[in-house]
Amino acid sequence: MWKNGAKCAVCLTFDCDSDISWKNIMRRTGAVKEGEPYSPVVLSQGQYDYNVAIPRILRFLDSEDLKGAFYVPGMLAEERSELVKDIARRGNEVGHHGYAHLNPFRLSPEDERKEMEKGLEALEAVLGTRPKGYRAPAFDISPRTLDLLVEHGFVYESNQMAWDTPYVHQQKKGKIVELPFNWLTMDWTYFAFNFFPPLEYQSGITSQEDVLDIWSEEFEGLYDDGALMTIVMHPQVMGRPSRVRMLGRLIKKMKKKGKVWIAKPIEVAEYWLESHRSG
Ligand SMILES: [Zn+2]
Repeated sequence: MWKNGAKCAVCLTFDCDSDISWKNIMRRTGAVKEGEPYSPVVLSQGQYDYNVAIPRILRFLDSEDLKGAFYVPGMLAEERSELVKDIARRGNEVGHHGYAHLNPFRLSPEDERKEMEKGLEALEAVLGTRPKGYRAPAFDISPRTLDLLVEHGFVYESNQMAWDTPYVHQQKKGKIVELPFNWLTMDWTYFAFNFFPPLEYQSGITSQEDVLDIWSEEFEGLYDDGALMTIVMHPQVMGRPSRVRMLGRLIKKMKKKGKVWIAKPIEVAEYWLESHRSG
């Protein structure tokens, strides 16, 4: 079913929200009103992304000889262009993650288009190539998003969860592959925590061993079914030492099992299109 006779495919994906998304959260929840300053402590959680977490994850992927996908808001690409170039230089995929990390579903059609095109321009200016993959900020796509993606030449998106394998959205002007994920295989669900206002994400912190247990069992089942496991991670959350070490143990299990294709999402999407071409 998968490349080189692999039984299942795995994508390691990282949403690089930095402090940009915390600003949005503070505004959306009313914790910060127009003209008021943002909480430095809340912002600093996101700054961990580019200071420590992304570099640590890049070193980890290199040490395992693996490539992942990093979804980057255009604004971050402008602010941290050397880091974003480094992600690509090491052979990883850089995907689109909005411009200012604004949820498409909550934008007007005009603003959604602007956010997408501004993000594309920013990534292209830094990398010299256009991204082919899209992860929406907060996975919050609108009824218009798929058409916009087709119009702008994207090959895949990774925002929905209707199947265990990739699937294809047939739009009026073309098609786009979906690389599904699930809340179960995302780090934020278990690890995100924030103490200060906004009072979101206060459910506590799950042990990385419990998450390893859940992800391992999910992997075994998806392997048996010949499916795709898309792991969604956020460097500021997943890039802590204990969690990167846990990811290392998960990868070890996968490698030991054998016949697992750990690949960049764009490779999986293109392979799916190629192997499911009809007529
Ligand atoms: Zn995000």
